[in-house]
Amino acid sequence: MANNIDVLTILADLVAINSVNPSYEGGVPEADVALYVERFFAAHGIQTFRQEVLPGRFNVIARIPGRHPDRRVILEAHMDTVSVRGMTIPPFEPAIREGLLYGRGSCDTKAGLAAMMHALAAITADGITPPCEIWLAAVVDEEHSFQGVIRLCQDLRANAAIVAEPTELRLVTASKGVLRWRMRTRGKAAHSAKPHLGVNAISHMAAVIQALDQQAKTLTARSHPLLGPATLNIGQIHGGEQINFVPDLCEIAIDRRLIPGEDAEQVWAGYAQLAAHLGAEIDRPLLADAPLDTPVESEVVHAAQRVLVALARPVAPAGVPFGSDASKLSRQGVPSIIFGPGSIDRAHAAVEYVECGQVLLAASFFRHFILEFG
Ligand SMILES: [Zn+2]
Repeated sequence: MANNIDVLTILADLVAINSVNPSYEGGVPEADVALYVERFFAAHGIQTFRQEVLPGRFNVIARIPGRHPDRRVILEAHMDTVSVRGMTIPPFEPAIREGLLYGRGSCDTKAGLAAMMHALAAITADGITPPCEIWLAAVVDEEHSFQGVIRLCQDLRANAAIVAEPTELRLVTASKGVLRWRMRTRGKAAHSAKPHLGVNAISHMAAVIQALDQQAKTLTARSHPLLGPATLNIGQIHGGEQINFVPDLCEIAIDRRLIPGEDAEQVWAGYAQLAAHLGAEIDRPLLADAPLDTPVESEVVHAAQRVLVALARPVAPAGVPFGSDASKLSRQGVPSIIFGPGSIDRAHAAVEYVECGQVLLAASFFRHFILEFG
């Protein structure tokens, strides 16, 4: 088969292209990866179109027509990566050693993107028309503010989506949501020799922190079967100017993970009430992302399970604590799962790599899925 380009060659090509998200130091627009994806599909006789997202940053959608004109499957993978700071291997010099391919983005999530690209090329080379129209969406900005998938979701209709993220080839139907915000206490500055003339914002914050920790303990009362309970972590604190001043300001930053059934806005409103009760200020959320909870009876899960049975892989639905573009597609009404090669523990790491065997299996999974989903 002339078009049988090796999936690991595609992956190595992608890793060699710097696509660190521009929100990080040294980051660049994803355009070079996008152009590579366009050229790849052009060489394989598959049409593509662009979605402009931000200046110099666009999604690339490859499209294969299906037999059912009104049914569509989305395969989605992001093109950007996190920073290369702190990496202890060359980030853009992909190398294979003992069955592992190394480099920034090798695991998160260029392996998934390469596997999806390979699957579309293989089906086209075989001259097969799949049951549903297939869109491979290579999107921008997953590692910062999700602008790529937000653009993809505008007016989108589809019957299923698979989002590539490292799941070690597990079928993921559920993920936690996240809510982040800041809280502040204000006091009155004074000299530390006369603290009675001031109001200590740090002492006030200590009471706020205790109240938040007490509330966090109650979160274990409710648990999702695949995700466990919601969690709360106070990750930052700043306050005070000098050791001999009574501090007039203290600020904390909070990360709250949501489980299915929790609505970000409602959860935030609960903390706003607590803040009012404690005399603290609260900011609007810095970040809010809904949980994912695709029903295990849905078509997309059943089709994925049939493919996994055929590949002799585990079929049990799993949950992950990290967010992805799948939650946005799901909110748009597209039943979505997360599936991809590699471990999330290797994503964003100083030494990032992916298991080559998993990349090959993922390509096979995506190809079978495209033919299986009717
Ligand atoms: Zn990712």
